[in-house]
Amino acid sequence: MSEVYNWQLGRPMSYPHPQATPQWQFAFVFNTNRCIACQTCTMACKSTWTFSKGQEYMWWNNVETKPYGGYPQSWDVRILELLDAAHRDAGREAIWDPAAGEAAKAPYGVFDGMTIFEAAREQARREEVALGYEPTDLEWRSPNFYEDTATGSNAVRDRLNLDPATLPEHQTWFFYLQRLCNHCSYPACLAACPRRAIYKRPEDGIVLIDQQRCRGYRKCVAQCPYKKPMFRATTRVSEKCIACYPRIEGKDPLTEGEPMETRCMAACVGKIRMQGLVQVGEDGTWAEDRQHPLYFLVQVEKVALPLYPQFGTQPNGYYIPPRWVPRPYLRQMFGPGVDAAIEKYTRPSRELLAVLQLFRTSQTMVFRYEIIEGPKVLEMTIDGQPWSMYNDTVVGYSRNGREVARVTVEEPKIERDAKHYNSI
Ligand code: SF4
Ligand code: SF4
Ligand code: SF4
Repeated sequence: MSEVYNWQLGRPMSYPHPQATPQWQFAFVFNTNRCIACQTCTMACKSTWTFSKGQEYMWWNNVETKPYGGYPQSWDVRILELLDAAHRDAGREAIWDPAAGEAAKAPYGVFDGMTIFEAAREQARREEVALGYEPTDLEWRSPNFYEDTATGSNAVRDRLNLDPATLPEHQTWFFYLQRLCNHCSYPACLAACPRRAIYKRPEDGIVLIDQQRCRGYRKCVAQCPYKKPMFRATTRVSEKCIACYPRIEGKDPLTEGEPMETRCMAACVGKIRMQGLVQVGEDGTWAEDRQHPLYFLVQVEKVALPLYPQFGTQPNGYYIPPRWVPRPYLRQMFGPGVDAAIEKYTRPSRELLAVLQLFRTSQTMVFRYEIIEGPKVLEMTIDGQPWSMYNDTVVGYSRNGREVARVTVEEPKIERDAKHYNSI
């Protein structure tokens, strides 16, 4: 075991391999508040990469309904239960100290519990480097099990709750969670593989399975806490999201050699997704890049949070949490930064509102943004506090500094000429 730095936990942690950070890291931000579960992203991936025989139940991208849904079924409940049991056995608690640590290296404070790697070590599971389990075939049967199923009333389980829903928290609720491989900084799949068939690319941090080396032992399936490697019975090897790497490499003619967002990101109808490459320092923390939209959302505004950071893999997918969902549920899922993130999203700063407009304005990856200030167009009160909206323009630039997006906060209105009133 080596010691690596996990900035999402605000502390070093045990990991089977030494620290080896890529030059750039594949990362993405999802705004859960906007997703309509249309599954266009899911089908974009499926029709590109997993349409062949033996891949019928394989959904590298899926959108599931929380809290009951999951693909494979109940994946997060199962791993959380295993972690809880490990903490109970060790007489420990999985708690966060949000005030501890140095802000730049521990933005969410310090996690004082055990990760999946540390829990496996504590339990002396000789065969496993991480706590995990292998789902049954039945559990893989649906990418959105319990679709649109809300929680019941806390008090009365067999009747509808007819109380009107109001913010800040709804009593009856569900939300959509969009999922793909997180191309983790400390991947459990990679650590688990006895064949060393899984590798993380130094140029972009993408995690891949070498199909020639894999022998289908399924250790990655068992030990990835997010359950994103999948076994293919026809070839008897495991497969997973490849981050559409030809697009990241700029192989698609559309972006003229520049990095392009992946299929599932570019297809998003709800405009909830933004994906990019971020620069990483030697200890795995993000190098300062103030005008990078992902850096701004994750490190400056801290409005987007990692999914189950306590697992310890340092996932590179970040989520703007849903506003209406009870906070304890969200804190378990996204860590202690939830309350501040929701507050920021509810009354967005002028800059945040502008950057949020960049989502899905370009298939070419945005590496830098600039804001051109516009006039004040609205004054109102949110949660009893004054708030103003400005019609700023945000401009996005590609890696080579080419302008690839220009959009205003207010959507322009175009009135059709009376002469062509009823034509297209
Ligand atoms: S395409 Fe976008 S809006 Fe539709 S399900 Fe996927 S993430 Fe949600
Ligand atoms: S999400 Fe799972 S499969 Fe993807 S890199 Fe992380 S541990 Fe590996
Ligand atoms: S990044 Fe590409 S391979 Fe991965 S889930 Fe999205 S579309 Fe599929």
